[in-house]
Amino acid sequence: MIHVEEAIEMILSHIQPLGCEKASILESLGRVIAEDAIAPRDLPPYDNSGMDGYAVRSEDVQNASQTHPIRLEVIEDLRAGFFAKNPVQKGQAIRIMTGAPIPMGADAVIPVEDTERGDGSVLVFRPLCPGDFIRKAGEDVKRGDLVITQGEIIRPSEVGMLASIGKSFVLVYRRPLVAILCTGEELVDVGETLEGAKIVSSNSYTLAAQVKECGAIPMQLGIARDHKEEIKEKLLQGLQADVFISSAGVSVGDYDFVRDALKELGARMIFWRVAMKPGKPVAFWLYEGKPVFSLPGNPVSSMVTFETFVRPSLLKMMGHRHLFRPVIEATLKEEIRKEPGRKHFMRAILSQEGKGYYVTTTGPQGSGILKSMVKANGLIIVPEECEILRAGEKVKVQLLDSSEFGVLSPET
Ligand code: AMP
Ligand code: MG
Repeated sequence: MIHVEEAIEMILSHIQPLGCEKASILESLGRVIAEDAIAPRDLPPYDNSGMDGYAVRSEDVQNASQTHPIRLEVIEDLRAGFFAKNPVQKGQAIRIMTGAPIPMGADAVIPVEDTERGDGSVLVFRPLCPGDFIRKAGEDVKRGDLVITQGEIIRPSEVGMLASIGKSFVLVYRRPLVAILCTGEELVDVGETLEGAKIVSSNSYTLAAQVKECGAIPMQLGIARDHKEEIKEKLLQGLQADVFISSAGVSVGDYDFVRDALKELGARMIFWRVAMKPGKPVAFWLYEGKPVFSLPGNPVSSMVTFETFVRPSLLKMMGHRHLFRPVIEATLKEEIRKEPGRKHFMRAILSQEGKGYYVTTTGPQGSGILKSMVKANGLIIVPEECEILRAGEKVKVQLLDSSEFGVLSPET
C-alpha cells in the first residue's frame, strides 16, 4: 500500500495538459486561457466624460463660486457615441453625457449638480482644475498591454476584458472527455425496474456530475456485469475518451474482474491500493498512454477517490495551476477515534462562527452512506498514524463546496 501523497504524485507525473481549442468568450468561462491576450488599442479609446455635466475650459471657471457663479454659453448637446461638431471656445460650454468624447478646446467637465441651466447658457458654481472629471484615453488599458496572461482562469471579468479588446473567440485548454463505466451484477440504471436484489447505479451519476463540476465532459458507458469479457468490451468502447474511470470490481472479491480485464487489454498498472479510508482498493493505470482510474464501488469511496485523484488530474489536463481544493484549519467539536495506518477522509460540516471555523462529522461514516456526502461541505483529513482527535483540537478540513466560503470553483 502506498501513501495518498505518493499516489497523487505518481498520477500527476503521468498527466500533461491537453491541447488547445478556440472557444467563444462566453463558452470560455471557467476554463484556462492558453494564449496571452494583448490589447490592440487603448481603453478607453479617447478622453471622455466621467460625469453628466458640461465640458468647459477650466480657466474660464477658475473664479466660480457659490456666491459668484460664472455664466457660459451652451453651444451644443453631446451624447455618448458621438464626437462634438464644434470646439469649445472662451466663454463657451458643451452639454456632455457620461462617456461622450471630450470636445476640442475643453479640458474639464463640470458635473451637472454644480450648475444651473439657463436659456442657452449655464451657471457654474465652482472652479475646476484641468482634467477634472475626464477619463483619459488608455487609463484602463494601454495599446500593447498584456491584459490576461496564459494560464489564468477566465472569470466574468476576463470575459468582459476579452470582449472590450475585440476578441470574440479565445484559445483555451481542451476539456477532457471522460469515459465512465460502472461494473456490478447488482446494478441497474435509474428508471429501470428494480427487481430482486438490484440497486440503482448511483455512481454512474455522481461520477458524471463530479466530472462536469470540474469542467470536463462525462461520457457514460453504462453498466457492465461482473464478466471479464463484458468489462473488456466496454472498456474498448471508451477508447476515444481522454480519461477512463471504472467503478467497483477492483477489490479482492471473487467477482472483481476489473483488474484482470485491464491487464488482459495490456494496460500498465502504476499502483493498486492506497493507505486511505475510504477508498483503499483504488488503482491507477496507463492504457495506450491514457490515464485509467479504477475506483472502488462504495458510493462514498468512489466520490472521495475521485476528489483525491481524478479531480486534480482533470484540472491539470485543462491547464489549471491550482489542482487542489482549499484546506482550512478548524476547531473540532467532537472526539474522533480511528485505527492507525490509513489517512481518513471524514465527511464533515464546516461552519464559520465569529472569526473561527468549527467542524463536526456528519455522523455515521460507512463508505456506503452516501447521505454523509450529501450533508458534508468538507472532509476532515485525519493523518495515517493519528488514533484520536479530541474536541477543541485544530484539524485540517478540505473544502468540498468552495463557493460557500468565497472561493470560486471552475464551472462547466
Ligand atoms: P465492489 O467494489 O464491487 O466490491 O462494490 C462495493 C459496494 O459498492 C457494493 O455494495 C456495491 O453494491 C456498491 N456499488 C458498486 N457499484 C455501485 C454503483 N455504481 N452505484 C452504487 N453502488 C455501487
Ligand atoms: Mg462488485
